[in-house]
Amino acid sequence: MSEPANGGNARLDVEETVRETVVPAGIAGPEPLAMNVRCYAVAQPAGIVIIDTGIADTEAGIAAAVRALGGTFDDVRDIVLTHLHPDHIGSLSAVAARAPLAAIYAGGADAPDIRAPHAITPISEGTAIQDFNVLATPGHTEGHVSLFHEPTGTLFIGDAAASDQGDVVRGPEVFTADAGRAEESLERIADLGPARILFAHGAELEDPADALARLIGGPGPHPPAGRL
Ligand SMILES: [Zn+2]
Repeated sequence: MSEPANGGNARLDVEETVRETVVPAGIAGPEPLAMNVRCYAVAQPAGIVIIDTGIADTEAGIAAAVRALGGTFDDVRDIVLTHLHPDHIGSLSAVAARAPLAAIYAGGADAPDIRAPHAITPISEGTAIQDFNVLATPGHTEGHVSLFHEPTGTLFIGDAAASDQGDVVRGPEVFTADAGRAEESLERIADLGPARILFAHGAELEDPADALARLIGGPGPHPPAGRL
């Protein structure tokens, strides 16, 4: 981990928005799947970055997160979508309408399939968005990306993995486009050794590197039915 350029204590101002939702029975399995959906607002040098927009009607929560950072929607510079699934883009139109100065980004393979109020800029491995670097983490979807803030070792993992009851878990198989590539992406994330992982589903873990190592080394492929 390199020191920040100013030599000060690297920190990241992050505000989280959490919504609870239920995937109806018959989609993720025979039982309904209860899950929490998280998106993030992050203060950055040139303006606020929003990472994912959650399910529909999340814009009020995102507005509160933006306010908690001391800003307004006019301060939102970038909206980054980790992938095309509806629980990540559900409030995109509403948020983009309130943040007219913000560019919208998504991985190149996913971007064409996302309905957006204006053009989406395709991103790929190594794209810089303010102090973030884009990691291509395909598998969950072909164009899935994660965002890494190197000065603080903070990874916004999207759905490359989730957390559940203290563990890192793989997403439900039914929502995974290519399990083999998803596993390669997980191994790459483990090699990166992020100090913090912020999940789209599930709370932050105290020792994410250790939890990730347990997952990759262990047999448990997916969370138990009915949970995420
Ligand atoms: Zn997803």
